[in-house]
Amino acid sequence: MTHVQQAAEKTVQMDRVGGNMVEVTCSFCRGTGKDPFGIMSWLSNCCVCGGRGMVQAPALNRRCAHCRGTGAVKTFTCTVCRGTGYVPVIPGPLLPCPECRGTGDDASSALACITCRGRGWVSHKS
Ligand SMILES: [Zn+2]
Ligand SMILES: [Zn+2]
Ligand SMILES: [Zn+2]
Repeated sequence: MTHVQQAAEKTVQMDRVGGNMVEVTCSFCRGTGKDPFGIMSWLSNCCVCGGRGMVQAPALNRRCAHCRGTGAVKTFTCTVCRGTGYVPVIPGPLLPCPECRGTGDDASSALACITCRGRGWVSHKS
């Protein structure tokens, strides 16, 4: 007689919140949940995570090039990653963006590079 004990399957993964999203520390406020620049007030909630200190990011992510993963461009919320500091990984072979050379910045403004949409990488099309 075999006695098979099924171990409770413990999934060791990041706090998955469904789909392909994971919960990560908010880059904009570094997890404090407070407005990092005190634009409204130093006591206001972070506008990116709403004060939770955590945000949802794609499970396959890379640091946002435009804001260097900080979630902020100067004192504004980064438009590329919406302040989270993470952008989805672009599938397939990639090349550093020829326009911004991987910085994700538009040379003539503080906006994101249009060619790579601020990601610093473009898909390599042969
Ligand atoms: Zn935040
Ligand atoms: Zn960003
Ligand atoms: Zn670019």
